[in-house]
Amino acid sequence: MAAPIPLASVEAIEKEHTLLLRPAPGEPLRLLSLDGEGRWLRAQGETWYAKRGLDSRVLMKERSGGRWQARRLPPDEAAALHHQIHRWLSGLAQVAPAQGWTERVQRWVEAAAAWTPRRLAAEADRYRHVYGRIPILPPDLYNAIVIQATRGCSYNQCSFCTFYHGIPFRPLAPEEVEAQIEGLRVLYGKDLERHLKLFLGDANALVLSQKRLEQLWQVLERHFAIDPDAAFGEPRWDEQGRLRVEGVYTFMDAFNTRHKAPATLAWLAAHGLRRVYIGMESGSDRVLRFLTKVGTGRDVVQAVRAFKAAGIAVGVILLAGAGGRELQEEHIAHTAARVNEMGLGPEDAVFFSPLVVEPGGSWLARARQEGVTPLDAEEIEWEIREIRARLRFGPGPAPRITRYELREFIH
Ligand code: SF4
Repeated sequence: MAAPIPLASVEAIEKEHTLLLRPAPGEPLRLLSLDGEGRWLRAQGETWYAKRGLDSRVLMKERSGGRWQARRLPPDEAAALHHQIHRWLSGLAQVAPAQGWTERVQRWVEAAAAWTPRRLAAEADRYRHVYGRIPILPPDLYNAIVIQATRGCSYNQCSFCTFYHGIPFRPLAPEEVEAQIEGLRVLYGKDLERHLKLFLGDANALVLSQKRLEQLWQVLERHFAIDPDAAFGEPRWDEQGRLRVEGVYTFMDAFNTRHKAPATLAWLAAHGLRRVYIGMESGSDRVLRFLTKVGTGRDVVQAVRAFKAAGIAVGVILLAGAGGRELQEEHIAHTAARVNEMGLGPEDAVFFSPLVVEPGGSWLARARQEGVTPLDAEEIEWEIREIRARLRFGPGPAPRITRYELREFIH
């Protein structure tokens, strides 16, 4: 947003527990959405789109040369955007009575104007206090309410993954989970009602024993009513004051699933575990070894089948570019073959995640050591198309196939 935005007339629409503000056509700001507390959530201009996270960090997508590029705004640019939006909202709050809105919408905009940039910036501390750090979520769960049953990753050694570096793995005691839920209720405030899904963090929450899982669920069920119909209409709270959510979701690695008895998986399904996201990365055992990942492609197939037999859907994550040029052919052939053996259906999903080589990871060093050449962006795209072309599902509808862009993560 280059210039202050004129306030000729602004349409206000309540939608899914947010307030959408749409200035008259021709204004630099096309759309601004507010959460139930009045904090801005999304802002859109002609060639850009910004999302504010719970900690007030900002993900910016900008269109240039016909392509959208995503980047996390550095603190000074994020602060400048918070300032511009606040200035606009303050102006809007002053002319609110002339907009013909309901009393409720006027109050909502006034609440939004009270979120000064300084107050928004302080959300980062409140977020850290509740969560510490959440480095990643599955791509369709950026809106989930995260509850950390464990912190970190129980393995933490895959060469391409730096998400949990510096976060020692540990399960949280039931009292800590209870305290986190109390904390997040305050952090979200009225915005909690917008959210329909629970995500159990961090990387391998289901590694907990059956006894610990039962204790965890006792805590969850004190605060949330897990009900598959929660997405359909009101009320959002049940008669015991619990938020209705449609289900529980989590990451899980195949090597941990091996230790889960079918009875435990059935118990989890009966208690609302709807989908598990499995980082398969590759169906090739050579590529998995190169990635320093535990287990084999067939272990992942077995894990997927075990979840599906228990009535739990899966999201299978494939790492495009994982084996570089030298292992590419095997990566393509074995990955497609293993996915085709999983028996995936419309309740499941396949995610293609292009490899992002982070400076703190060991993927590049291993590649040099083993004579593996990294792929460029075009080669990665070709690889995705090749694997997709070999996928075979059915009979019946296929799973959803989509991308997982790590750079677009914001919680
Ligand atoms: S890819 Fe998964 S299992 Fe491997 S280190 Fe990262 S979070 Fe842990």
